Amino acid sequence: MNVDSIKNGIVIDHITAGKGMQIYNLLGLDSLECSVALIKNAPSRKMGKKDIIKIDADIKVNTDIIGYVDPDITVNIIVDGKTVDKKTIELPERLTNVLTCKNPRCISATEQELPHIFTLADKESRVYRCLYCEAKA
Ligand code: ZN
Repeated sequence: MNVDSIKNGIVIDHITAGKGMQIYNLLGLDSLECSVALIKNAPSRKMGKKDIIKIDADIKVNTDIIGYVDPDITVNIIVDGKTVDKKTIELPERLTNVLTCKNPRCISATEQELPHIFTLADKESRVYRCLYCEAKA
């Protein structure tokens, strides 16, 4: 894959430098069959340095995960080598099966079939709490 240009796929741009790997792991990109490029510390006029992830396939990415890690990220949808859509990401109100509760007495730790749900408790400080026991993420 040419790292500079992809034909049809997704470019996750404006990732805070150093957070690219976390997004890569949380999105499970290592399990994809297509080409995936993680570019670290790319020069950015706006941010100084940034990370970029390029995925050479038209897949759906979980924008809740992206927003949780870094709400300032933009997701570009590329079709035929052109950017056809630029999505800005927001801090998600609710995260389902992204984080697991660390509280050993939490019902989500013992009831295996329960989804792991965290809700945004404080937008300013980006604090998430477990829906069941209110433990901090
Ligand atoms: Zn809990």
